[in-house]
Amino acid sequence: MIRGSTTMTPGGYVYSFAEGSGQMRALLGGKGAGLAEMTRIGLPVPPGFTITTEACLSYHQKGTYPLGLREQVHTALRALEKAVGRKLGDPKAPLTVSVRSGAAVSMPGMMDTVLNLGLTRETVGGLMAMTGDERSAWDGLRRFVQMFGDVVLGLERDAFEEVVAARKAKRKVGNDFELGADDWREVVGSFEALIEKKTGKPLPPDPSEQLWMAIRAVFDSWNNRRAIEYRRIHRIPDNLGTAVTVQAMVFGNLGQDSGTGVAFTRDPSTGERRFFGEFLLNAQGEDVVAGIRTPQPIAKMEETHAAVYTQLQRTAEKLEHHYRDMQDIEFTIERGKLYMLQTRTGKRSAAAAARIATDMVAEGLITRDEAIKRVSPRQVEQLMHRRLDPKAAVRPVAQGLNASPGVATGAVVFSADEAVKRAAAGEAVLLVRVETTPEDIHGINVAQGILTGRGGMTSHAAVVARGMGKPCVAGCEELAIEPARAQFVAKGGEVVKAGETVTIDGGTGRVFLGHVPTLEPELGPVFRKLLAWAEEVSRLEVWANADTPEDAARARSFGAQGVGLCRTEHMFFGDERLPRIREMIMARSLEERHAALAHLLPFQRDDFKGILRAMAGLPVVIRLLDPPLHEFLPDYTALRVEVELAKERGKKGKEVEAKAALLRKVEALKEANPMLGFRGCRLGLLFPEIVEMQVRAIAQAAAQLRAEGVDARPEIMVPLVGHANEMRRMRDLIQGTVDRVNFETQRDDAYKIGTMIEVPRAALTADEIAETAEFFSFGTNDLTQMTFGYSRDDAEGKFLFRYVEEGILPAAPFQTVDKGGVGKLMSMAIELGKKRRPALKVGICGEHGGDPETVVFCHGLGLDYVSCSPFRIPVARMAAAHAALGASFEGD
Ligand code: PEP
Ligand code: MG
Repeated sequence: MIRGSTTMTPGGYVYSFAEGSGQMRALLGGKGAGLAEMTRIGLPVPPGFTITTEACLSYHQKGTYPLGLREQVHTALRALEKAVGRKLGDPKAPLTVSVRSGAAVSMPGMMDTVLNLGLTRETVGGLMAMTGDERSAWDGLRRFVQMFGDVVLGLERDAFEEVVAARKAKRKVGNDFELGADDWREVVGSFEALIEKKTGKPLPPDPSEQLWMAIRAVFDSWNNRRAIEYRRIHRIPDNLGTAVTVQAMVFGNLGQDSGTGVAFTRDPSTGERRFFGEFLLNAQGEDVVAGIRTPQPIAKMEETHAAVYTQLQRTAEKLEHHYRDMQDIEFTIERGKLYMLQTRTGKRSAAAAARIATDMVAEGLITRDEAIKRVSPRQVEQLMHRRLDPKAAVRPVAQGLNASPGVATGAVVFSADEAVKRAAAGEAVLLVRVETTPEDIHGINVAQGILTGRGGMTSHAAVVARGMGKPCVAGCEELAIEPARAQFVAKGGEVVKAGETVTIDGGTGRVFLGHVPTLEPELGPVFRKLLAWAEEVSRLEVWANADTPEDAARARSFGAQGVGLCRTEHMFFGDERLPRIREMIMARSLEERHAALAHLLPFQRDDFKGILRAMAGLPVVIRLLDPPLHEFLPDYTALRVEVELAKERGKKGKEVEAKAALLRKVEALKEANPMLGFRGCRLGLLFPEIVEMQVRAIAQAAAQLRAEGVDARPEIMVPLVGHANEMRRMRDLIQGTVDRVNFETQRDDAYKIGTMIEVPRAALTADEIAETAEFFSFGTNDLTQMTFGYSRDDAEGKFLFRYVEEGILPAAPFQTVDKGGVGKLMSMAIELGKKRRPALKVGICGEHGGDPETVVFCHGLGLDYVSCSPFRIPVARMAAAHAALGASFEGD
């Protein structure tokens, strides 16, 4: 911090690079902290200073710069001028600086930057004299005026581009680099005129004033639309603020011995350990990042600029070792001299995250716990992507860069707004752009995948897609993308119009027409290793919701430690079974019902045997019939129309009578609120023969398997209990049936009997319920529905998404457990239940069980396990480990 003396005073708002350090991320932002740290460890960094995030926050709170900021910046600037030996605004030896944003959490391209500040009509000659390069000096000035006009004065970017395009047309050239010094001088004049016309004022000529305007613009950019949207998507808090870094410029556009580039210390797509990146000769940094010119692979640099390449590679290695993580670096070479402009932890695909983390453990760079913390549950979620079926006989129409793995299929759209419109109507869309900019973020967010025609592995589309875990094929130059005609043309001549379906494979960079068959995701050896480490540190177990032997086997292959919910009603559908359950519902006497149930029993028993066999040695919680019976009957309205029509046409006979009888039954079972109606244990208590059949099937399946030597471990769960008496009676009924089967099979098998906690009253009276329930499993789908009074079937489509969007609710309550309400009931139920039964086992089996944030919450509540759908098991396993290691998911 600089306050005009060398003593450090608390409350300082400005730190020179030499004064800061990598530890000061919160205050200096990622960029400022990285530059300070690189300076500290002796790397070649152009000097500069950073204005803190605290200054930004104070500015946003009060609307003015905090007291002392102006003097501190002034002092820092004087020190910078001294270090460089040039002065801001000096016509002979002008200092030029970059003014960049940088928050504590990386938000690539979301906020604003101004380069070449200090170049004016008065100083451009000074720069020319220093570099001996007239063209680059005028080009530099026009870049400054353009960025200043766009970022600081808020003018349309396109207006400037049009001026450049007109100049190129006049010169009959296609590329910026073909314009000369005179052209750029003319362009500067046109830009100045444009600014004066649009703002009513000339461009302020004084670089000091420009600097303050730029600082203000960077502060303001914290709250621009795309930054706010990015924070919302990545759950980054709004109150971090951005730092502002002011750094002496170095020039990568001074000829063929100059250049600029970005690189990763390992491959960000696959995680492979190889120096990976791109560079452009004779160019400035934003040319690479913006994807305007497609850069060269960095390995090419070794051929043409071997010495500086070796220095760069060594520096990258040093940085990776220093930070003990993969780094994403930016550099510039000015006339053969290397300068480091940025280092930060590199964003990477999920697969790369796992590979890098496990490799670094093997290399002795990090511990296993650190490796676990480096792979977020959301990255695991991304890894559970579907893959292209290698057997599908499809031919790609184009090949681009494999910028972010995963397969995406969708209707082609050519603008972000169109993507949002179509996605809102429920369509899967693929965003196709020549290149993306931060303005496209809302479209990228809703698209299944991104396809761009220009730009490299570090272009905006590639970086953002990898961060979001979306498939992306970038720089696909084999396609002629024509947004104005809403189409693209592949090199073979295939024309694809907006709305047509295309598939991209971000893992290989290939583009296909139409829909291509995919395979279910698989866990590779690297992820298996990581998940095994995760399990070692976790306290929470991860179980699965599985209703079929296939689901159970899949869950087990993903590492499930039990089945937490087997919904038996799913077994009643299918051609052979549905007629039987309908017979059971239609039965006019107990005998008829028993006869129908007797037909169903062998089906149930076989299903249970399959699941119990697949999960041998592990617990399987089987829940008794839950939904209202009308769900097994035809739709009321359709049936009524059918019967009325038959009547009208005077049709008679057995079939018509049967339909009419069915209609009467459907009418009799119809309820205004079926979710609050005759379902769950209420059914079982009034139709005990259904419970008897199901329990008999469970006990017989277990007995048969055990006789075969299979370690079958079923547990029996009662749904929708709200009163202790319901549980007590159900328990008696279940136990009575188990006893009978034991007698018949001459065995002495015992099964745990427990209950779902999914009615608020059950949570409130959990102590009474625990008297007869040996375990609890929170059915948070129903518990959320009944606690909020929101229909789980309708609320999301009708109003709940809006509620979340408008911030009325902090998160979607059917996805992430509502800690304040539903969570409070859970906590109360656990406390009451365990008071009565200390050995009570407690889990969760609502959809929330696979949500990382909910898993962490459940860990905190002291649950024994979470149960979720098979494909979410790896996610939950990672979340359970993160919870045990005390990691949080902020900014995931
Ligand atoms: C629940 O309510 O959370 C639950 C798991 O049961 P279902 O979704 O079958 O109602
Ligand atoms: Mg339920």
